[in-house]
Amino acid sequence: MNKGKFVLIVGPSGSGKGTIIKNIRKRHPDWIYPFSYTTRAMRPGEENGLVYKFISKEEFEKGINDGKFLEYACVHEKGYYGTAKDEIMKGLEEGNVVVREVDIQGFHSIKKALDASLLITIFIEAGDLDELKKRIAERGALPDEEILRRMESAKREIAQADQCDFRIVNEYGKVDEAVNAVEKIILDNL
Ligand code: 5GP
Repeated sequence: MNKGKFVLIVGPSGSGKGTIIKNIRKRHPDWIYPFSYTTRAMRPGEENGLVYKFISKEEFEKGINDGKFLEYACVHEKGYYGTAKDEIMKGLEEGNVVVREVDIQGFHSIKKALDASLLITIFIEAGDLDELKKRIAERGALPDEEILRRMESAKREIAQADQCDFRIVNEYGKVDEAVNAVEKIILDNL
């Protein structure tokens, strides 16, 4: 049977993963963009059930016990995030392209769980660390210590970027170029 491809978009908070996926989604509405489950609070402007389904810690822990997740992680010590098995595995079985962003822990778990032939892994980075810090700070009223924590995890994630199949720099003001590069990688590897 023709198996699909699971495109994992990885990279630090603020590198532009979400924006890139949003644009890929506009160009390829036929691909599958599963929401993840999270226990973090919904931010203004977010739609429940689009990128995330917002659930309580109790519901999330029930999901863990029920074996609902392909992988899950505690990200930025702030909450649980997890990809549910059902939609992703069904999409792959049916030969579809499935696109999702995860943190570096999710990337490692999924690499262990799925055959490498099913995966296309792409690391997105901002031009440099100062640029990344600016983007994280621009996201909204994050306390200084939270910005510092995100910068520390960014450095840890960037150190592992070479473990992804591909690496893209999403330079400030050049998001279309990053979207084109990601789209080309996916199309070239189907
Ligand atoms: P944010 O709260 O800013 O939307 O996301 C925080 C981090 O969690 C990002 O690095 C994002 O890629 C990651 N993330 C989002 N969904 C998942 C998921 O289902 N699993 C894992 N492991 N990480 C996720």
